[in-house]
Amino acid sequence: MLALELIVAAIVVFFVCAFFKLRVAWWTLAYGVIVVATQSIPLIVAFAIVAAMVNIPILRRMVATDHVLALYRRILPDMSPTEKEAIDAGTVWWDADLFSGRPDFNKLLAVPEPKLSAEEQAFLDGPVEELCAMCNDWEISHEHQDLPPHVWQFIKDKGFLGMIIPKKFGGLGFSALGHSAVVMKLSTRSSAAAISVMVPNSLGPAELLLHYGTEEQKNHYLPRLARGQEVPCFALTNPEAGSDAASIPDYAVVCKGVWQGKETLGMRVTWDKRYITLGPVATLLGLAFRLYDPDKLLGGKEDLGITCALVPTNTPGVNIGRRHMPLNAVFQNGPNSGKDVFMPLEWIIGGREYAGKGWMMLMGCLAAGRAISLPTSSVGGAKALTRFTGAYARVRAQFKTPIGKLEGVEEALGRIAAHTYMMDATRVMTAGAVDLGEKPAVLSAIAKLHMTERARLCVNDAMDIHGGKGICLGPNNWVGRGYQMTPIAITVEGANILTRTLIIFGQGAIRAHPYVLREMRAAKEMSGAEAAREFDDAFTSHIGHVIANGVRTFVFGLMPSIAPVPRNASRDMLHYYRNLQRISAAFAFLADISMMAMGGALKRKEKISGRLGDILSMLYLTSATLKRFEDQGRLREDLPLVRWSVRDALYTAQRAFDQILSNFPSKTLATLLRVAIFPRGLPFRPPLDSRNRECAQIALTPGAARDRLTAGMYVPRGDDATGRLEAAFVAAIACEPIDEKVRKAVKKGKVIPQPGADVGLLCKEKNIISADEYAQWTKKELLRKSVIKVDDFPQDFGRAQLAEEAESHKPHARAA
Ligand SMILES: Cc1cc2nc3c(=O)[nH]c(=O)nc-3n(C[C@H](O)[C@H](O)[C@H](O)COP(=O)(O)OP(=O)(O)OC[C@H]3O[C@@H](n4cnc5c(N)ncnc54)[C@H](O)[C@@H]3O)c2cc1C
Repeated sequence: MLALELIVAAIVVFFVCAFFKLRVAWWTLAYGVIVVATQSIPLIVAFAIVAAMVNIPILRRMVATDHVLALYRRILPDMSPTEKEAIDAGTVWWDADLFSGRPDFNKLLAVPEPKLSAEEQAFLDGPVEELCAMCNDWEISHEHQDLPPHVWQFIKDKGFLGMIIPKKFGGLGFSALGHSAVVMKLSTRSSAAAISVMVPNSLGPAELLLHYGTEEQKNHYLPRLARGQEVPCFALTNPEAGSDAASIPDYAVVCKGVWQGKETLGMRVTWDKRYITLGPVATLLGLAFRLYDPDKLLGGKEDLGITCALVPTNTPGVNIGRRHMPLNAVFQNGPNSGKDVFMPLEWIIGGREYAGKGWMMLMGCLAAGRAISLPTSSVGGAKALTRFTGAYARVRAQFKTPIGKLEGVEEALGRIAAHTYMMDATRVMTAGAVDLGEKPAVLSAIAKLHMTERARLCVNDAMDIHGGKGICLGPNNWVGRGYQMTPIAITVEGANILTRTLIIFGQGAIRAHPYVLREMRAAKEMSGAEAAREFDDAFTSHIGHVIANGVRTFVFGLMPSIAPVPRNASRDMLHYYRNLQRISAAFAFLADISMMAMGGALKRKEKISGRLGDILSMLYLTSATLKRFEDQGRLREDLPLVRWSVRDALYTAQRAFDQILSNFPSKTLATLLRVAIFPRGLPFRPPLDSRNRECAQIALTPGAARDRLTAGMYVPRGDDATGRLEAAFVAAIACEPIDEKVRKAVKKGKVIPQPGADVGLLCKEKNIISADEYAQWTKKELLRKSVIKVDDFPQDFGRAQLAEEAESHKPHARAA
């Protein structure tokens, strides 16, 4: 009996100590009491020996951790300098909490809601609104195949190209949130304008100069970039090196040459770049190449490494200007090249001191731009899709019903609306992190991947809802071009497959994990007693961390209601906070067990690491969504959007766990893990249809919830296709009671319209509707017809007319 009680006591002690992550001394004390209670001298002696080894660092090291350190050093693959620089780049923020297995939501909710400054808001309401109104996407993409000159000039004059440049250099000095709000609004109107503005404010010459430029370079270039006197581009990608950008074969050799009539120490640069955005119109080429110094003219290594320089594009030997055609998008993009072009060393960003430090510079600056550019433009796209698709689904009727009220369409529309809410929440939280001084390496990758993927889901749904209207391109199509361009965002700034399967978990597991980086540094960068002490501390803490997370995972799986919730959080959301605690603990536990079970091979098991990254990503997106709900004052109207998107994310995370466990290399371990993580089976279900209907209703109904969901977008008011759509939407809703009278009159046979008859007029003649109602109904019908119209073109798509126009512009024709 006593033996049974002691065993039960030992199990309870294990769970309590692990659950509360108590220090080793507490474990020793608690187990010491149990062992003494056995009154078995051999057991007490054995326990005392083990306790001494566990509690006394020097003994622990001698017996255990020094040996583990030796093994670790043998099996830990060496990292290349470029891998190391990529891992070290940026900062960790909320991702560290998620990786800890016990995220502190009190801390997250206490972070103030990011807000635009008055100046940023004025810029959005002034120049950005004006620029949007100037842009006609069809004319830009089909007729000009570029932004028209007056639009380019406006962009330059108003400082759009210098949003991230501080005021002291003549830039706008905007916050990350302000910058993001500008790009988002432009993206709802013209992708060409948005991308042309986005690129100079992302990773490129300005950002690199701000961090690494010499004073002379900053003072010369930054004011010129801010005023639009220079149009920058940044060229890294080579035909042989796309995703694996660190392996670029472009090279430069340090040598002496003649520059502006004087013998100068410089470099001969040979490069071949492609896909470079703004390249064809750039005046300043940011160029990445590998620098070699075979004659040791700089006195150091022969292979200095990747180096970044700023090259005026009018330098003799620079071939630039030709264009690619990226899925018919017309933002400027093209190749550039040069062979043995001589340039002074002073063109290296940061000067000679920064020769060979290009990769570190690029990695160091990557996070801020990646946190904003593509996540933001994707959110802009999603907002426009929510607003336009909702409006179209209300205006377009089939089977005598607005298509938005048909369940199949409603399902797709509800998804668009809910994804948009979560995407915007993520945009704001990520930009807010940048404004707090973070360079969120892992979180920016999550935002890039999941915002662009959700934009793809949204545009696919929107295309389906629009049917043929979305397919036939022309000035009356507001969705087809966005659909065409979606793969661009998927591919650039780290193609999504690579970002998902290699970067998010790969970098997160090292950077955001509380102990892995410390262990790696102790093993690879330290030696002697210092390494032994550091490794011992990190490794023993790591073991405690794994045990604690394993126990918390199991306990929360059995009793989800005991998971902690933040103080003062909305009662409606407590359930979700508990589930996030549970998933975070399970994720941290599974991540550690996967690393232990697969070691370095996990890097190659991209299907597993991709799914681990998905769980981390869902935790991040859900945290952002819950925070957004709190920050905006827990608006009940938004509850369906929060509930649908959070439930969808939890279900996605569960699917990722399930797939990892089904494909785990060790079946025994997988079974044990499944028991620990899902002791009561799979708990999460997909979002409810009723919730989906409520989300669709938000997109289908004018009002505060729809306006909030699409806040910050350009709302067209003019007489173009989307302006008419907005007007038709308002008119369709206002006319619904009149439509109902007309419908009933026809159904009851009070009016019998012949084919082609004006049924509204017949109803007016029979006093079923008044003259005012008829006028309102007629206006609505005109708008409706204009909205459902698609474009058609001459047989030759107008080529003959274009040729004629070109002919008439030739000098001989003008003379005639
Ligand atoms: C429109 C456009 C604009 C661009 N603008 C610029 C610019 O301004 N400056 C610039 O320098 N570059 C620019 N790029 C280049 C862009 O960054 C690259 O296209 C991108 O890095 C991918 O390279 P790639 O196209 O050669 O694809 P690849 O590298 O050939 O990749 C093909 C596929 O393999 C996957 N993949 C590759 N490696 C792995 C891996 N280890 N694990 C899993 N999957 C992997 C990728 O995810 C991708 O799906 C632009 C590209 C485009 C299309």
